[in-house]
Amino acid sequence: MRIFTASLATETNTFSPMFTDLTSFKNSFYAAPGEHPDTPTLCSAPLIACRERALTEGFTLIEGSCSWAEPGGLVNRATYEFLRDEILLQLTAALPVDAVVLGLHGAMVAQGYDDCEGDLLSRIRALTGPDTVIAAELDPHSHLTGQRVAMADLLIAFKEFPHLDFMDRARELVQLTLATVRGEIIPCMASFDCRMIDVLPTSNEPMKSFLSRIRQLEQQPGVLSISVIHGFMAGDVPEMGTQLLVITDNQPELSKQLASQLGMELFALRGQSMPAMLTVEEGVDQLRLNRQGPVVLADVWDNPGGGVAGDGTLILHEVIRQQLTGVAFGTIWDPMAVQLCFAAGEGAVIPLRFGGKSCATAGDPVDKIIEVKALRASAWQEFAGSKVPMGACAWIRFDGIDVILNSNRCQSFDPSLFSAVGIVPEQCHGLVVKSTNHFYQGFAAIAAKVLYLDAKAPYPSDPKQNNYQKLSRAIWPIVEQPHQTADKRKPVCTQ
Ligand SMILES: [Zn+2]
Repeated sequence: MRIFTASLATETNTFSPMFTDLTSFKNSFYAAPGEHPDTPTLCSAPLIACRERALTEGFTLIEGSCSWAEPGGLVNRATYEFLRDEILLQLTAALPVDAVVLGLHGAMVAQGYDDCEGDLLSRIRALTGPDTVIAAELDPHSHLTGQRVAMADLLIAFKEFPHLDFMDRARELVQLTLATVRGEIIPCMASFDCRMIDVLPTSNEPMKSFLSRIRQLEQQPGVLSISVIHGFMAGDVPEMGTQLLVITDNQPELSKQLASQLGMELFALRGQSMPAMLTVEEGVDQLRLNRQGPVVLADVWDNPGGGVAGDGTLILHEVIRQQLTGVAFGTIWDPMAVQLCFAAGEGAVIPLRFGGKSCATAGDPVDKIIEVKALRASAWQEFAGSKVPMGACAWIRFDGIDVILNSNRCQSFDPSLFSAVGIVPEQCHGLVVKSTNHFYQGFAAIAAKVLYLDAKAPYPSDPKQNNYQKLSRAIWPIVEQPHQTADKRKPVCTQ
């Protein structure tokens, strides 16, 4: 048995001014064939799962390139075509293969390509012919296009948000791929368009229970896998939105019935899943009033994980205005300020302008006389067994406030981002992080309280205000009753 594996992934916020090029991939993650480290990344987990099985079962594994760019704006056309063609050439050289197992994200949009993954899967199918099993792992914050469902045999998304289960899902994908190649199962996929877009954390209700129900249904005979595609509201593409994806063992009617039934159940839960959000002022008030620490404040909409810059200063300005101390910010993206700190050296006290440079809405730059507390040429944070590069970092202090300036845009996953520069997070009164929900697991473990702050910018967090140009269907919350609306695409199951 011969299996080819590769990964090409990013999440594109089509509203973001931070364009994505080859350097963005190489700064985040790029592994040439055979050079992937032993630890997985979020989207290259299938390669690690393939390696595990190749070791125990002795099939031939051919590794292609794996790359990931921190979410950002549109991918440069030449960059997408270069990374795609590299994988297609590697696959061509590897043919014939029994299966192609890919680590995708599913929300990549390049100049001229609204559906990069659909394009990649179609070209792979054209190379392999119909008999090769094509399988891919997806991030739930993706767009599930009809083209992808048509071109692949097996698509499985992470179930959890935070995505702590990316390795479990990758193993499941490889397990089902091997069973398909061996003729033990005949996967049959059906998707259902829920006609909605929402943010659906599974760490709290009602998604926690919905997920338990899905796990129960997966135990039913003949059901191989059920994925919830949450969708990604910052991607203006025709098929943006939430979908249910069911794979059964050769039972098309069951796939369709389960997808539509669960899809409508999820539709009924719309608008109920986001935890209560505070304004910036309310959140910082709460921090001041809470004597017990650390209080974790999540800057939900300045999350580089959603493709924005992560250099917003709205919460920092409020903390300065209320004259709070003992508050640490991890992180604010500002490679220029990091460079200035490196030039000045550890221990230097210098005037510094930092943050607030990438857009007009996420707060003004901050000007302070700061002390350079520590410098790291290359810092990392942990996330569920993977290592996330923060790049060169400077820990600066002023007025009793600590800030980590980083040069690689990355969202805040885990308290290790603070210890990476020498800050002890447990000893801080307040910790301000930039993340929608991935931070939750790691930080809840050390937090006296976790607060979600809605600073209103810069992520396009209100679909009603986003003025989508390419979205092809009526979806909630833009339309109150989208399932009763006649429009370009009917809400039917595809198979
Ligand atoms: Zn995601």
